[in-house]
Amino acid sequence: MEEILEKARKTGDLSRAEITALLSVSDQKHMQMLFDTAYAVKAEEVGRVAYFRGLIECSNICIKDCFYCGIRRSNQNVERFLMDEEEIFKEAMWAYEAEYGSCVIQSGERQDEEYIAMIERVVKRIAEATGGSLGITLSLGEQTEEVYKRWKEAGAHRYLLRIETTNPELYAKIHPEDHSMDVRKECLKALRRTGYQVGTGVMMGMPGQTMEDLADDILFLKEIDIDMIGMGPYIPHSDTPMGKEIPAYTDEEKKVALQLGLKMIAVTRLVLRDVNIAAATALQALEYTGREQGLKCGANVIMPNLTETEFRPKYQLYDNKPCTDENSSMCRGCLSGRIKGIGETIGFNERGDSLHYRKR
Ligand code: SAM
Ligand code: SF4
Repeated sequence: MEEILEKARKTGDLSRAEITALLSVSDQKHMQMLFDTAYAVKAEEVGRVAYFRGLIECSNICIKDCFYCGIRRSNQNVERFLMDEEEIFKEAMWAYEAEYGSCVIQSGERQDEEYIAMIERVVKRIAEATGGSLGITLSLGEQTEEVYKRWKEAGAHRYLLRIETTNPELYAKIHPEDHSMDVRKECLKALRRTGYQVGTGVMMGMPGQTMEDLADDILFLKEIDIDMIGMGPYIPHSDTPMGKEIPAYTDEEKKVALQLGLKMIAVTRLVLRDVNIAAATALQALEYTGREQGLKCGANVIMPNLTETEFRPKYQLYDNKPCTDENSSMCRGCLSGRIKGIGETIGFNERGDSLHYRKR
């Protein structure tokens, strides 16, 4: 373990077996050594700065039916909502005025022209109103290259589309038949061609997923030369097919899921070095300070929720999603304090583009 970490401190060139060994660490002492090494590499490669991306969850309407997701098409217990253009614009401007460097517009997947054109208009409006200084990230699922191009030309900078897992059998198990990993990989290639800073990532801790699978996921991220990573622990939602199979996490299971999430961040930092890595909100669902712990293990991006308090309970991807009853200024205040408390500065007014992308 010490030897692998010594090597990882100097180079990200780790083998599948070495990555698996790091992910499998379970004793406190070695886990802390892993986290400290990843933090040192983060400080060296991207600095001890946390960038904020204000998250706007603009609609829970989705044409897909992923077996793990609380807002999947078939879930009848969800009251569907769609923010109008003005509301999305207002929230993006809130992020700008609060000196957040970027916003993220995320929703269920829709491929109809009405929605595509609405996103195009609102992105253009935000880009014009902020003179391009507010980073705009989209996370709106699989689209054609033409649509990705339209949104890019309107002013979006980044796109986040998780691969979820690179194990083909597991991918098939967690998605209905109309999903295809090849299509998702093609989307990631189209996004790269279109000039976005491209982000992807996985869920970890899904039933049947092994440490070797996760090691392969990290090697995949490296192989496709990704710029940003958004990954987080899988958390069951009781109204989904996968959530019905496993009861809600016990406290012990939450602890294990959090540790796995943190180990993935740490090892990904060691292997990919200068990319942006987000500390996912799902970490906070497992423990209140989960995202700050993510920063201490190698993440450098946090996505505070800007969604109007009224809509938040309707965007429940998993059970016990945090901060559903807080408003945006409460999130800003409590998060900023906690981040300063761990000795990091916040990149206010900075877009915080991926250094990896800039070097390319
Ligand atoms: N619809 C778009 C998509 O799928 O790319 C964007 C929104 S989707 C809700 C964003 C991410 O939420 C997915 O990529 C997935 O990894 C995550 N997610 C969904 N259900 C989850 C769950 N039960 N636990 C943890 N993450 C979940
Ligand atoms: Fe829809 Fe995304 Fe949820 Fe899948 S993960 S059901 S595409 S919102």
